[in-house]
Amino acid sequence: MKKNQTHHPILVIGAGAVGSTFIKKANLLPTLFPTIHLASRTIDKCITLSKKCTGIQIIPHLLDADNSNDVLQLIEKTKAHLVVNLALPYQDLTIMDACIRAKVNYLDTANYEPKDEAKFCYEWQWALNDSFVAANILALLGCGFDPGVTNIFCKYAEKHLFDTIDILDCNGGDHGHPFATNFNPEINIREITQNGQYYSNKQWIKTKPMEISRVFNFPEIGKRKAYLMYHEELQSLVKNINGLKEIRFWMTFSDTYLNHLTVLQNVGLTSIKPISFNGKSIIPLEFLKECLPNPSSLSENYSGKTCIGCLISGTKNGKQKKIFIYNTCSHEESHNELKSQAVSYTTAIPALLGASLISKGIWTGSGTLNVEEMDPDPFMKELPHLGLPWKIHNY
Ligand code: NDP
Repeated sequence: MKKNQTHHPILVIGAGAVGSTFIKKANLLPTLFPTIHLASRTIDKCITLSKKCTGIQIIPHLLDADNSNDVLQLIEKTKAHLVVNLALPYQDLTIMDACIRAKVNYLDTANYEPKDEAKFCYEWQWALNDSFVAANILALLGCGFDPGVTNIFCKYAEKHLFDTIDILDCNGGDHGHPFATNFNPEINIREITQNGQYYSNKQWIKTKPMEISRVFNFPEIGKRKAYLMYHEELQSLVKNINGLKEIRFWMTFSDTYLNHLTVLQNVGLTSIKPISFNGKSIIPLEFLKECLPNPSSLSENYSGKTCIGCLISGTKNGKQKKIFIYNTCSHEESHNELKSQAVSYTTAIPALLGASLISKGIWTGSGTLNVEEMDPDPFMKELPHLGLPWKIHNY
């Protein structure tokens, strides 16, 4: 992988809630990426952003990223050295294939998921490792917040010889809508309606959706009920963190959110099996997505904060120790800075930081690597300067 490529432009794919937040933040930090090529399925979103962001040059492109040849052509046309995939998990493999053929680096925030099956795992992307190594390029996987920052927190834990980790994701905010998701509704609902799963004593233990819950006291938010879920970073962390005994993922949901979700499930609106409607075949979940508020429209009246971090316990220098390493992010402050809500903000800023560490040649390597396989120190050092300060609470 070539070092220091800050003079080459990057290509960002996706101009939704996360993609637009990435661009708006990059616009405030013009020395990072003076030129960004922005491509998406709806070019109008790219054009609107390019007109709004005058601090840097945003060059809009129309792209169907499901077509690997089209992605390849655009990489060649833009001469990008890095492709930041902020489209949907469905596009991961076609974009990675184009990166291999063009021999350019790749970064994403979510692992591949086939459109016709609600299943996500890293195997599809890890299978491309040899091709990335042969091309001497890096695919940095899962560089959002969770996965992303939480993986880096775990790497920090490994350095300190801790061995039990609970990843806690709390959105203590209120957007004023009876039911809305904070990122792409289709991807979000597919994720949370799956069975749960966690790792303990060298075994994966399966649970029913929302079967296990626990109340945690979140700093700057208070007590909230969190549900044990399966989340993609568990798969890579079990592989990459030495001496890990147990790892679980918890996410908070309000009773109102869960009641709405139950009704939607019961009436079949979260299904991805096609149904016939007025002579046309439609997918109920895709229809539901169109009925729900767009995640990037939520920021206007969003109050409260997110608190996401890792509760880590284990032995350090012969003594038992327990810490919570976390970030809190205010919806109002994210809106005031970038007109984005905190969930988009906490996903886009780590992706921006990861892209800049790759471009500067600080994070290097070849193959498909998850973020915890990178040195956490430069990332942890810079993260607060980009608007995501982290803290440690000792128990
Ligand atoms: P959105 O739906 O808001 O945005 C997705 C964007 O991708 C849209 O601009 C969409 O175009 C574009 N797109 C979709 N399909 C294609 C295609 N075939 N070709 C080109 N562009 C396409 O999603 P979010 O911004 O909420 O989420 C983006 C990603 O971030 C997702 O993968 C999500 O899972 C991930 N994420 C990761 C988190 C983390 O912490 N790691 C947390 C939250 C999200 P159009 O405008 O036409 O629909």
